[in-house]
Amino acid sequence: MREPIEIFERLITENKDITIISHFNPDGDAVGSIMGMKWFLESIGKKCIPILPNPIPKTIDFLVNGNEILYYTLDRLKVSQALSASELIICLDFNKLSRTEWMEKEIREAKGTKVLIDHHLSPDTEAFDLIISEPGSSSTCELIFKTLMETSFTKGDVLNLPHKARISLATGLITDTNNFSNSLSSYTFIMASELLKSGIDFNYITDMVQKRFSQERIRLMGHLMSETMIVYKEIRGACTILTKQDKARYSFRDGDSEGFVNIPLTIEDVDVSGFFSESDGFVKVSLRSKNQFSANRFANQYFNGGGHEKAAGGRLFIPIGEVPEYFQKSLEQFLHNEKAQQ
Ligand code: 5GP
Ligand code: MN
Repeated sequence: MREPIEIFERLITENKDITIISHFNPDGDAVGSIMGMKWFLESIGKKCIPILPNPIPKTIDFLVNGNEILYYTLDRLKVSQALSASELIICLDFNKLSRTEWMEKEIREAKGTKVLIDHHLSPDTEAFDLIISEPGSSSTCELIFKTLMETSFTKGDVLNLPHKARISLATGLITDTNNFSNSLSSYTFIMASELLKSGIDFNYITDMVQKRFSQERIRLMGHLMSETMIVYKEIRGACTILTKQDKARYSFRDGDSEGFVNIPLTIEDVDVSGFFSESDGFVKVSLRSKNQFSANRFANQYFNGGGHEKAAGGRLFIPIGEVPEYFQKSLEQFLHNEKAQQ
């Protein structure tokens, strides 16, 4: 671990123009990571531009004051200019460039040195010059914090990180662990403790992230769980469907369905929960699992995706009406194959 950190430190020291990138449909860990890295790098005199493929959901808007982030969907030209001018490109919270959607080709072709800091399984080793990868980390924010604490910039003192960087990194820690309930590592609590000691207000962050929803979101949640969730008891799966029609009916905004996939997983008879959201040209898939079920392998094999062992995602290219049957058949087949391999 020491050597990659030393290389990372050298790359930061030697380069001035830096871009920081995270994935399509950014979540709390993605935004926390790029903003945490930005505030840190600026505190040591670097010029850096955070870039995202598309805008952030309202739940994490408190991390951004104005127009600090460039969005590819809104400012394609500026993104291209920033990418081609940057000496160092720091990629955060994704394991392969396709997770940046339309930006993939330009990042691949950019001349700058590419660094990846990430906690997903199986990073694409061909696409980056330096990889700091720890699938055991709860969040990329945790891995960034741990990495920065080991550099000579901070000398292990949390107060050497600016306040805004600490709030940003705390946000990813809170959101990716679902408020300290999953993917925990022992370092998760060391980081939380250090941040609390340094004066970071965790209650403020959870109020911002988890307690600012619209009334329609709660009604949509009730509707989906009562009317669309199907539990397949024999195969221990649950499938929940969000159609475009329901999105319109409940004034759906990006981020509104965050966390819905976790609800059916609380049922005793369910080991895997699939949440399917009808989007333009595809169905967005979210999977969560418990006990020994591998959401990552299931996503890989049947849903054109991947992620973590117990939280994964992907895409389907079938009509939304066909999803429950596809989910059921895939789960039966998957369980059959997993059993055969044991
Ligand atoms: P979520 O269900 O919160 O959208 O995603 C859960 C996890 O699955 C995330 O860690 C994310 O990186 C991964 N994931 C989500 N969507 C995709 C996808 O389309 N492709 C891949 N490879 N991973 C995804
Ligand atoms: Mn993450």
